[in-house]
Amino acid sequence: MDTILRIDMGAKKGPSVVKEPLGEYSGKGGRAMTSAIISKEVPPLCHPLGPNNKLVIAPGLLSGTTAAMSGRISVGCKSPLTGGIKEANAGGVAAQMLARLGYAAIVLEGTPGNDDLYKIFINKGGVKIEKDNSLKMLPNYDLVEKMKTQYGDKIGCISIGPAGEMKMGAASIACTDMELRPTRHAGRGGVGAVMGSKGVKVIVLDDTGIEVRKPKDPEKFKAANKTFAAGLKKHPVTGEALPAYGTNVLANIINESGGYPTYNFKEGQFSGTAKISGETEADLEEKRGGLASHGCHKECVILCSGIYHDKDGNYLTKQPEYETVWAHGANCGIDDLDTIAMLDYLDDNFGLDTIEMGATIGVAMEAGLAKFGDGEAAIKLIKEVGEGTPLGRILGNGAAVTARVFGVQRAPVVKGQAMPAYDPRAIQGIGVTYATSTMGADHTAGYAIATNILKVGGYVDPLKTEGQIDLSRNLQIATAAVDSTGMCLFIAFAVLDQPETFQALLDLLNAFYGFNLTADDVTELGKSILRMERDFNTAAGFTSKHDRLPEYFYSEPLPPHNTTFQIKDEELDQVYNF
Ligand code: SF4
Repeated sequence: MDTILRIDMGAKKGPSVVKEPLGEYSGKGGRAMTSAIISKEVPPLCHPLGPNNKLVIAPGLLSGTTAAMSGRISVGCKSPLTGGIKEANAGGVAAQMLARLGYAAIVLEGTPGNDDLYKIFINKGGVKIEKDNSLKMLPNYDLVEKMKTQYGDKIGCISIGPAGEMKMGAASIACTDMELRPTRHAGRGGVGAVMGSKGVKVIVLDDTGIEVRKPKDPEKFKAANKTFAAGLKKHPVTGEALPAYGTNVLANIINESGGYPTYNFKEGQFSGTAKISGETEADLEEKRGGLASHGCHKECVILCSGIYHDKDGNYLTKQPEYETVWAHGANCGIDDLDTIAMLDYLDDNFGLDTIEMGATIGVAMEAGLAKFGDGEAAIKLIKEVGEGTPLGRILGNGAAVTARVFGVQRAPVVKGQAMPAYDPRAIQGIGVTYATSTMGADHTAGYAIATNILKVGGYVDPLKTEGQIDLSRNLQIATAAVDSTGMCLFIAFAVLDQPETFQALLDLLNAFYGFNLTADDVTELGKSILRMERDFNTAAGFTSKHDRLPEYFYSEPLPPHNTTFQIKDEELDQVYNF
């Protein structure tokens, strides 16, 4: 992983390829790499879909090794949805393949200046770029089938669907899983639109004939990996709850807490939760011959993903995640798992962020375009997005745009990006993260739910204001660092509670690279990433006034606790005081 692959899609004679040594980006991976390149090389005031924006795709520091959980890939750019810096990451096989092929980053630069569409094939023999307009408007599943026919079934794909080609603000980038299905998405912030603006439909990876990356100290690495995996196995969240029920194990828990946003963030509990919970979902998957426990890449030991079959026992989609089940379920008043699974499939196929689309359909329902609870109408609306009808183009640009077009005041967004599945009026800590994250509303940027609700890493009362600023700050710093390692963020549950598992993570990095990282170094790494991102956003025009929740979260009490968001502006302004 000692090369940066730069592809200029705007070169006069067609796309040109340059391979560079890491240079000043040496020692960086994942989010540290994407945010460093974007903040150094992209003018903050450029148009996100113009030639001066760049799309950076970077495996984490430990990707491509045998380290447990190390299959995360980061995608960075200036976001068309927020107008700020963006890092969205995904699981699947792409990170491991790209890292083994030797690339620390692919940087897509320029724009072709016409409507041509390209595919990029990378294997141990090099990089081949071909114009292929037969791929136009292909949904992700058909596209991957076509790539399989052309390149065989040992490949991994990074692709966009029609939404990316239409440069929609909710467009995702899909990565294939172990079954070569386009189910793992870098979802947030419209990264797929930026790939579409570069004229790149798919990057096909084939690491055949290449071995796993070798650590500097194999014995220490092996020992650290054993301790690390054992720590994950023995933690109740990563060793029991997630493997048994997937991320949707949270549905009952968050509903019980009163922070499960329902009917476009009007209420905090949904009467249909039992019908769409992780327990019900896992049961259904097993009965129909799907899988309730499954890894999205080979080195995963938590196995939070799954496979969802339809009523006839045929594959429909991967196990819809907690966020997806909430977004298309409770938030839209829909309590039918098959409908939600169909919406998940359509989002994956068109290349759409399920969180943004669920929030958007909720806003559309509030606008009267469909009734809350009408699953068929929700499916119809998502199909309009995939077809690119005028209404679909509006919806495909997300909750904020849809709210503006239809005159809806209650748009659950921060910096233009939709809130995920936790209401900040009932879980104040996550509200601090939503408000202040460099990414816009994003639960993964500083997952306060861990401590507010799951009592991981201590306990901070979700309904009180005390301790929420420190909690969110510390989690945002830690997350930025974890996002750079290539590790799935779910390791955080065990790492926060078990000092030996955190040490094993440091040992993995140290044994692999010959580093001498300490806990303080990891904190400093997280801070340095956040500073870069914050500086970029400031130069792009963001001020402290953008670090706020929408007005109604301060004035409209949320049942059942009947609370509003209580954290004061002056306190929010203290999150980035480092
Ligand atoms: S825990 Fe889930 S998201 Fe994380 S690597 Fe495993 S299957 Fe993928």
